[in-house]
Amino acid sequence: MQTKNICAFLGDDASPEVMKPTIELMERLLPHLKFSYPDVGETAKKKHGSKFPDSSKQAIDDSDATFFGSTSGNSTAALFYLRWGKQTYANVRPARWLKGFNSPLADPEGLDFVIIRENLEDLYLGLEGDLEDLAALNYYSRHARSSLSDLGPGKYSIKAITEKGSERVIRYAFEMAARRKGKVTLSSKYNMLAVADGLFLETGKRLSKEYPEIEFDHFIIDDFLCRMITDPKALDVVVMPNLYGDIMSDGAAGLIGGLGLAPSGCFGDDYAYFESAHGTAPDIAGLGIINPTATLLSAAMMLDYLNEDVAAGKIRSAIEAVYETGRVITKDQGGAASTGEFFNAITTEMEN
Ligand code: ATP
Repeated sequence: MQTKNICAFLGDDASPEVMKPTIELMERLLPHLKFSYPDVGETAKKKHGSKFPDSSKQAIDDSDATFFGSTSGNSTAALFYLRWGKQTYANVRPARWLKGFNSPLADPEGLDFVIIRENLEDLYLGLEGDLEDLAALNYYSRHARSSLSDLGPGKYSIKAITEKGSERVIRYAFEMAARRKGKVTLSSKYNMLAVADGLFLETGKRLSKEYPEIEFDHFIIDDFLCRMITDPKALDVVVMPNLYGDIMSDGAAGLIGGLGLAPSGCFGDDYAYFESAHGTAPDIAGLGIINPTATLLSAAMMLDYLNEDVAAGKIRSAIEAVYETGRVITKDQGGAASTGEFFNAITTEMEN
């Protein structure tokens, strides 16, 4: 078997508690996967004089994919490189209910949609500063009918939506809908933000003409949220700019049963990295109760990407079996099992 090289970042707070055993499980399933752990954060600073040294960047460049544990700061520079350096523009966040997931819905059976969040633009470029720095631009608000300088002291953040950025992520959504034999729903705030969010909508409308066999609809983001809560089964592939996607995908995770269940993968044209949708869960770090499902499902997404479909299927089947029997369930899902007990149950299912 040809070796496949994976960079792994174990992450901060509770992240290593789910990352380490998930990596061990993948190593047992596929011995030709080689995981390496590039130096980041304080360790890297001591050894190399930088929190994200060139050697770590090179390790990512030389790898087939990255498996990333949520960070509260130590590996943020690596994360930014994985995003902007590797141009991973499509953050894919599936919301698929499995029997046994503790959904708040009366009838979650069949809930299965994907939010694709644009991953590189919008308000996430970090273009922020003092409002007075913009004074020379003489901005006039057509909504407030006053000049920007009339607002007085304050701060700004730039929301940038580009044609290229919109087109590639929306095309990604249409291609996924074609594979799923589903439809595409686009959302942004194109009424109030007619220029930037309007560009996202117009790009979607234009691309939909290239995919006449795929149903396409669009909703203003507030209307979308209402529909996502009241009729989530009507959704299939959803695409939206970065900030809305960040927020809505946590909501989608809530619909299936919580953040502990929601995986994610970030795809570019020639690289991808995978991480749970949740953060580092600092409030439960060290307690041994963090739910590994999101991390395991992210691992399965990574194995799909690496064409290791059989192993990905084994992980998913084991998760389905553990939830279906419902005996070994973590606290967030209404059970009393520890993280370790959950992993043991997964291993037992995989060996059966
Ligand atoms: P971030 O800003 O990185 O999203 P955060 O602390 O705001 O971090 P999370 O880390 O996602 O958000 O945690 C939000 C809540 O969900 C916390 O109470 C956390 O304990 C809980 N949570 C998140 N992931 C899990 C998990 N896998 N298992 C159990 N509880 C979880």
